[in-house]
Amino acid sequence: MKKNHEKIRKGINRRQAIKYSIKGATIGTMGSLLPHSTKADFPNLIRKRSKDSKVAVVGAGAFGGWTALHLLRMGYDVTLIDQFGPGNSQASSGGETRLIRPFYGDQEVYFNMVLRSLELWTENEEKMNEKILYQNGLVIFNQAASNPRVEDALPMYKKAGLRFEKISPDEAAKRWPQIKTSDLDHVMYDPVAGFLKAREGCKAVRDLFVKEGGNFIQDQVAKENIAGGKANSLSLTSGTTIEADSFVFACGPWLTRLFPEMLNKLNVTRQACFFFASPPGQSDLMENKLPTWFNRDLDGVFGAYGVPGSDYRGFKIAFELEDIITDKFDTYHRYVKPEEQEHAKKILALRFPKMAGRPLLDQRVCQYTETPDRNFILDKHPLAPNLWIMGGGSGHGYKHGASFGEMAAQSVSGEREVMDMFALNRLLT
Ligand SMILES: Cc1cc2nc3c(=O)[nH]c(=O)nc-3n(C[C@H](O)[C@H](O)[C@H](O)COP(=O)(O)OP(=O)(O)OC[C@H]3O[C@@H](n4cnc5c(N)ncnc54)[C@H](O)[C@@H]3O)c2cc1C
Repeated sequence: MKKNHEKIRKGINRRQAIKYSIKGATIGTMGSLLPHSTKADFPNLIRKRSKDSKVAVVGAGAFGGWTALHLLRMGYDVTLIDQFGPGNSQASSGGETRLIRPFYGDQEVYFNMVLRSLELWTENEEKMNEKILYQNGLVIFNQAASNPRVEDALPMYKKAGLRFEKISPDEAAKRWPQIKTSDLDHVMYDPVAGFLKAREGCKAVRDLFVKEGGNFIQDQVAKENIAGGKANSLSLTSGTTIEADSFVFACGPWLTRLFPEMLNKLNVTRQACFFFASPPGQSDLMENKLPTWFNRDLDGVFGAYGVPGSDYRGFKIAFELEDIITDKFDTYHRYVKPEEQEHAKKILALRFPKMAGRPLLDQRVCQYTETPDRNFILDKHPLAPNLWIMGGGSGHGYKHGASFGEMAAQSVSGEREVMDMFALNRLLT
């Protein structure tokens, strides 16, 4: 399996990644002065601070964790705060796995961000000493002859020197006999794509952040204190006050609680995913033999997708729901409807016949935080330009955490302008 991963990884070489990168982060040196430091665990690795400036990042999900790590490496004195911990079960980043794939229709910004994320995960995995990124490829099942969301991305793949193959149903059935392809018009195959281990990835980023000299605090921010045209401090539920020069709020769905007037156009939606047992001995249904998958049209469902094996968590299948739970996402009974489970079983049996009737191992609910245009948010608070709001992952944010975190760090340091597609004012009108 390792050999296979290495082979696929070579699909995106360093030169390509740099060519399409947003901008490499500066590796800085720093130390840390804020309270509740976890740095004692890594006494030999504390870096000297090179920027005389403190940043507090709230939220250790995919967005906040990476932002904190990039800021630290740029030389800031960084404190990362999370109420329940990195990749906790209520966070959107708290699932087992998240897909990573570059194609985004004609949206080149996201395409480039994914390539940069792939590069960042590859580089940092070595430092984490942990496998988080699995580039086992992605197959897209198309019942229709045309799929603009995929086809519009083809010129970007070509420019980047990457493959995105169009395969006939017969050829696909030869390559992956585990998949039923006879109802399909064609299959697309992207060998660079795959999945990330989600909650473990957040923890690995947090651990690296601490190892390199950052402070992590498990506590809840009750309030940001804004006066004199800027944010000055954070009041934590424990009674502690955190002072800093800049603040980043990367709080996923909790942003709707923290900034209700500004973010009332966000919808938090309930999402479900299911994990089924592969047949014993059927190793061709694990991630080393089968790519991640994305089903566009089957049974009228838009966006059913899955991860075979999921690093022994079970064969994952998920699809997008539109159940709005903005007012109760952190208080409701985290239910899955029986008909949703039946639907998952049906799709699985149709597309992967060996999975028909297999036992359910686990089912989870989680939430998307959706902006109306599904673009993320990265902008300054209108009343406090040193307070940044980062979020709106809209069901596709995890894969971008590494590169979007880099963009956020560059924004905080003034190296980067706010991009219109991520600006707050599009949500304020
Ligand atoms: C079922 C499902 C499947 C998905 N599939 C994919 C996929 O395949 N690919 C992909 O790229 N994306 C996917 N996504 C989307 C992706 O997971 C999210 O966009 C991403 O995880 C959002 O990360 P975040 O850091 O913004 O938020 P979160 O992960 O929610 O992190 C926010 C953090 O802030 C903390 N926090 C909140 N308020 C406070 C406070 N007051 N004080 C202190 N801490 C606080 C929370 O505890 C939490 O840890 C999926 C999402 C779901 C739910």
